[in-house]
Amino acid sequence: MSVSAKSVWKNCLDFIQDNIQPQAFKTWFEPIKPIKLSENVLSIEVPSKFFYEWLEEHYVKLLKVALTKELGEHAKLVYIIKMENTYGNREPFTEKIPSANRGQVSPQEMDVPIKSKNPELKNPFVIPGIRNIKIESQLNPNYNFDNFLEGDSNRLARSAGLAVANKPGGTSFNPLLIFGGVGLGKTHLAHAIGIEIKDKYPERTVLYISAEKFTQQYIESVKKNTRNDFIHFYQLIDVLIIDDVQFFSGKSGTQDVFFHIFNHLHQNGKQVILTSDKAPVDMQDIEQRLLSRFKWGLSAELQSPDYETRISILKNKLYRDGVEMPDDIIEYVAKHIKTNIRELEGAIISLIAQSSFNKKEVTLDLARQVVEKFVKNTKREVSIDYIQKVVSDYFEMDVATLQSKTRKRHIVQARQLAMFFAKKFTKASLASIGSQIGKRDHATVLHACKTVDNLAETDKQFRKYIEDLTKKFS
Ligand code: ADP
Ligand code: MG
Repeated sequence: MSVSAKSVWKNCLDFIQDNIQPQAFKTWFEPIKPIKLSENVLSIEVPSKFFYEWLEEHYVKLLKVALTKELGEHAKLVYIIKMENTYGNREPFTEKIPSANRGQVSPQEMDVPIKSKNPELKNPFVIPGIRNIKIESQLNPNYNFDNFLEGDSNRLARSAGLAVANKPGGTSFNPLLIFGGVGLGKTHLAHAIGIEIKDKYPERTVLYISAEKFTQQYIESVKKNTRNDFIHFYQLIDVLIIDDVQFFSGKSGTQDVFFHIFNHLHQNGKQVILTSDKAPVDMQDIEQRLLSRFKWGLSAELQSPDYETRISILKNKLYRDGVEMPDDIIEYVAKHIKTNIRELEGAIISLIAQSSFNKKEVTLDLARQVVEKFVKNTKREVSIDYIQKVVSDYFEMDVATLQSKTRKRHIVQARQLAMFFAKKFTKASLASIGSQIGKRDHATVLHACKTVDNLAETDKQFRKYIEDLTKKFS
């Protein structure tokens, strides 16, 4: 053990000791051994995986402050886990998976029975005897960076994606969380990053999976008693892309297992890329410890594309399909479909189809019909203003009263219902709902939604309010 690792750790301990209970210090910090210091990276040995997770969960901030004081703002901590007895050796757990066993498997092959040569590993994903078969990345080559057009609405997310693709695991964008509404390109961008990485680093294992499928696999593994194998499999991945993590909300088992996988990957410098339809602050029923992980890296929003970007997306699509279309038609479509790139593409595809099936020339009139159908078919979103108006009318008060600061019970309830319906029927964030309903903050809106849920279960009269109002919105 080098002297400097020891002295740096000693200084950290002095600081930590001053900031926590003596018993906690004794339990969680005394058993730690400093192992190595190289530049700004301190490696410490902890007695078990559980120990490491506990430290991460409860003392991550404190450790960070202590370490930053010693090693500067780029300080890093690496945990080495003293192997638990079952594994019979003392190698760091990062090493315990022999490289010969890497690869071979696609996540669908979870059912494959194992005869692993390495009995302690029990990895059901490894097909014995076959080498050099890679984990199927499940990436869609049509979703690449070349055809992901850049615009103001996606510049940050796109360039963060490129940065991650250039140096997976090597930027501070870890995890990279891409969020935004439906049809704005989250899935496309997530694939593009994966494809770029495969291109640049063919030896890395990249895996794209939807949060839904990940959840199914997890449930399956619990049923079959192969939860550990499931975890091991995901811990083998170098670049893990999980799409639509909002799907994890309320699923505490899946969140828990993902938390462990995430920690392992992150600790080992592996890249995690997530997408979600909401920003972390607006995610509901996701455990705090997971949310805090999401915030470690970068959250980059995909916004609705501006007019210019919509035009270039349409032109690019037509160009790729080898179809020509007059500018005024393209402009008409771009002007009328604003909030969803999938619909934008849908409209143009439908125009192309109509014109070729019916041998009709694409006229502005045809464009109008197609666009109208698209706009009609997409569910009209009720506005927060409209919700406040309907709720106020229902309780026979005016909107100003509903928004006022009063704590009178029936007014508070009306306000909470308006917040609840705004959450339910619009895509607005909690923060934005709060600011529109009497300038409240997001916590107030969250509280309102929970209160309404509770009252709906316990209070018959209140349930009636909800039912009546729900009818008015649908
Ligand atoms: P999300 O996952 O956010 O719902 P998708 O990634 O499925 O959205 O994108 C919807 C459609 O829009 C896809 O066909 C995708 O190729 C296209 N698209 C999204 N953003 C862009 C972009 N910047 N340039 C070109 N096509 C895009
Ligand atoms: Mg998607």
